[in-house]
Amino acid sequence: MTSAGRFAPSPSGELHVGNLRTAILAWLFAKSSGRDFLLRVEDLDRARSGAEAEQLRDLQAVGVRWDAAVVRQTERAKLYEAAIARLTADGRTYECFCTRREIQEAPSAPHAPQGAYPGTCRRLSHAEREIRRATRPASIRLRAEVSEWGVEDQLHGHYVGVVDDFVLRRNDGVTAYNLAVVVDDAQQGIDQVVRGDDLLSSTPRQAYLATLLGLPVPEYAHVPLVVNNDGVRLAKRDGAVTLGDLAAVGIPAERVRDLILESLQLPAAPLLDALPHFTPQNVPKTPWVWTTPRA
Ligand SMILES: [Zn+2]
Repeated sequence: MTSAGRFAPSPSGELHVGNLRTAILAWLFAKSSGRDFLLRVEDLDRARSGAEAEQLRDLQAVGVRWDAAVVRQTERAKLYEAAIARLTADGRTYECFCTRREIQEAPSAPHAPQGAYPGTCRRLSHAEREIRRATRPASIRLRAEVSEWGVEDQLHGHYVGVVDDFVLRRNDGVTAYNLAVVVDDAQQGIDQVVRGDDLLSSTPRQAYLATLLGLPVPEYAHVPLVVNNDGVRLAKRDGAVTLGDLAAVGIPAERVRDLILESLQLPAAPLLDALPHFTPQNVPKTPWVWTTPRA
């Protein structure tokens, strides 16, 4: 089994500077610890035609290279179904017929945080399920036996977060992100997950699920996001933020790479030359404020 890190973009549009910085960080974490670096396209949802090719091209333009063929989640339905079948055989799943609105309007369980599933369908009788199946396809939820779970994060230390009866397969048949990511990381030999810190709060759910499936829990590093001048997570509306936009105003990909490396207090250089200067402990703990530079 390999030991690997990864970058796993959703092909919903062009990568922006924030995505590229996270990809470079994931590459630096992997390579500085002697790991392979893998690329996985998370195309179960919101995939836009042509976006994958653009993203791979942009990653290469800033110097990111990967060590094996690209994996796509849409090609892995059997793996996800096998994991759900195993959990179901263990009595760890149930069908949920709730609409989003019903979940929002249901009284939440005591001590449950905002947005946690209130458990409405957990104890439906066989007859009640039969009736509801006739009107609405079911999503599949995990029957969680804990309400929180702890993980270790290289930048955040010991982090404890909510685990609720989260969705494993949506009622439109699409595998939920939390399940796919756990199955894929284990199956690809990924033992180091570096990604944006907006995903930290879902990590306890994933680590708990991995444990239930008998899979190893990877080590985690949730890195700060890139934000605009208002401190809001960078988005396309923030001006020239993609390599395409930046090239159009005279800023080539190498310059973008250099700016990203400088934001990490690393020398502006090809990634292999910056690599020896990288230590995880020195990754800035605060978001990087992006302002489009002058050409
Ligand atoms: Zn429900």
